Amino acid sequence: MAYKITEDCISCGACESECPNQAISEGSSIFVINPDRCTECVGASGSPKCAEVCPVDAPKPDPAHSETKEALLAKYKKLHL
Ligand code: SF4
Ligand code: SF4
Repeated sequence: MAYKITEDCISCGACESECPNQAISEGSSIFVINPDRCTECVGASGSPKCAEVCPVDAPKPDPAHSETKEALLAKYKKLHL
């Protein structure tokens, strides 16, 4: 399941460089996650880095992008060929 950044984001930018997949970028009002690049950090780390570093707990799992661990790992491998 890809993560999404909620409206709680204060645009501090701390998460952007932590993402192993370059899935995070600055949007028009808050930072945003590209679900095609988010693997929940599966393949790179044991836990979602963006959620870990965020001071306001803005990144949350996005039920609209539900994927199995196997699918997330396959996505990670495809991104890092
Ligand atoms: S959960 Fe991991 S892969 Fe997904 S946006 Fe956050 S840091 Fe990037
Ligand atoms: S770390 Fe949190 S508050 Fe900062 S840009 Fe990322 S989601 Fe927004």
